[in-house]
Amino acid sequence: MRTLCCANRLYTTEIPLRHVAKCFTMQRMRRLTDIELLDDRALQQQMVWASMSILGFGVVIGVIAALALPHEVVGPLWFVALAFLSVVALPVHELVHAGAFMLLTGFTARIRFGFTDWMLYTSAAGTMLRRRRFCAVLLAPTVLVTTALLVVPWLRGFPLLGWFLAVIHLAGCTGDLAYVHIIRREPKATYVEDTERGIALFYDA
Ligand SMILES: [Zn+2]
Repeated sequence: MRTLCCANRLYTTEIPLRHVAKCFTMQRMRRLTDIELLDDRALQQQMVWASMSILGFGVVIGVIAALALPHEVVGPLWFVALAFLSVVALPVHELVHAGAFMLLTGFTARIRFGFTDWMLYTSAAGTMLRRRRFCAVLLAPTVLVTTALLVVPWLRGFPLLGWFLAVIHLAGCTGDLAYVHIIRREPKATYVEDTERGIALFYDA
């Protein structure tokens, strides 16, 4: 048996208290705007430029470091490790998003993983969080996974490998960084909802 709660969302009759609180909160809020990254060509081009800039900067620094640190052998195995770990980092990135969503929603978010336009993604469509918490979800993999990719190989004696892994991963985080930038430039927005096509910003009415 189901019941209509609010904002045209259906919840089961066993509505957790936090959902009830969310419903009352939503009644006081107004939708500010929808950001649909998947449909925004201009934003996508900015992301590509940002990714290329990070890659370009990272490769230049990496090549200089390679010349300064000749003890790290950059051979076929090195490139295999770079490619393999870069691919492994992708699902880990999405799992960190999912973990952050679950932690910051008190394990109420409905997480879905997908693959579109050659990109893995994590969806918690319908999940709403305060803007700071939503930014934390967006930034969690950028900070945690990039740091792990940089530090762990470094500690194992492969600082160059760590540097390139971190640069490649960071270059793939521009979508998350773009959303954080958009949220930050809308100070009026107090809540952010994950949607099927991107995010929606809300403000207190
Ligand atoms: Zn991400």
